[in-house]
Amino acid sequence: MSLNTAVHRICDTYDSQHSLDVAYLKHALETGLSGTSETVVEYERCIAEFYAYPHSLTVSSGTSSVAVALKAFDFDPGDEIIVPPTCPICTIFPILMHGLKPIFVDVLPDSFGLNPVELEKAVTPRTRAVIEVPMWGYPTQADRLRQCTNTFRIPLVMDLAHCHLTKLNNKWLADFGQVACFSTHESKFITTGEGGFVLTHDECLYDRMLSYSRFGNLDGKNVGVNFKLNGLQAAIGIARMGAVMKHREVRLTNRKYILDNISNPEVRELPIVEGGSINGYALLLQATRSDGRRLVEYMWNCGIPSDIRKYDNQPLYNYPLLAAYERACPNATKLLRSLTTIPLHPDLTRQELEQIIEAINAYET
Ligand SMILES: *Cc1c(COP(=O)(O)O)cnc(C)c1O
Repeated sequence: MSLNTAVHRICDTYDSQHSLDVAYLKHALETGLSGTSETVVEYERCIAEFYAYPHSLTVSSGTSSVAVALKAFDFDPGDEIIVPPTCPICTIFPILMHGLKPIFVDVLPDSFGLNPVELEKAVTPRTRAVIEVPMWGYPTQADRLRQCTNTFRIPLVMDLAHCHLTKLNNKWLADFGQVACFSTHESKFITTGEGGFVLTHDECLYDRMLSYSRFGNLDGKNVGVNFKLNGLQAAIGIARMGAVMKHREVRLTNRKYILDNISNPEVRELPIVEGGSINGYALLLQATRSDGRRLVEYMWNCGIPSDIRKYDNQPLYNYPLLAAYERACPNATKLLRSLTTIPLHPDLTRQELEQIIEAINAYET
């Protein structure tokens, strides 16, 4: 398919997308707007059906999806949660909020996936969960990680805020965790404005998460909060879920177009793990010979935004708030310092894609 065809298809998608959005919003207005309305139930059914799960649970944000996922398991204040230092700080706040301690474990070389050997060294009797956070739509070796967490009988939570539709060995990345978390914030793969959801195959974990996010079922036995998504957000969610495969295709077409037209030995795409398939959330470019921060600044000066710039390409323990949890993670440091992210979203015009290609090809060290 040529890029023009792709762009026309986006326009088609967008026109029909707009009418679909409006139709579902109207239905929500007529049938109820709360987090327990018909539209929310229907959106949860859509997600569950798409991912082939018995249920999905919608929540108010990706951050609340992580908070809810942790509450699926028992813990005491001061217990430990293993996380990679390459994730966004958003994943850490729910850990702190529950009075838990983040334990930073290094990633594998050129990967956002936790290194099982390092993980083994970090496990203690107080470890309550491991959170894997694959970034920008690139899969990690979650199959191996799950084997490892199974050995220690520690639950694996997949924070898939970036990895809606990402696969490994032809399975959803979600399938490798006991619980998987998603964000549908405006900046993520698909959007409900603000919002998120969790998936699990385990009925008992589902009940615990449902209860926590809905006031402990109001029975006064367990603590709960209100993390519900509302009917208007769910209406947009239903409308967008219907186009999600097309949306991925456009993103992947944009990626292919960029990769087919760049020829600069200074950069390469971050390697995709064997058996993995990406979702086109962003293109991860790695500087092969120079400091990636130079590449990030260069692209920025060419008018091309880089998501990774938000983090200043550093591991999380460099933030003042998290300095107390520092554990040297050389692979994480090296990886973050080597990358820039290139947008692939469906609103990109042909001209913008050409501008990206031109900028990459002109990069010199
Ligand atoms: C964005 C993001 C979150 C937080 O999601 P919100 O919907 O913005 O609360 C959590 N984890 C990861 C990996 C994210 O990228």
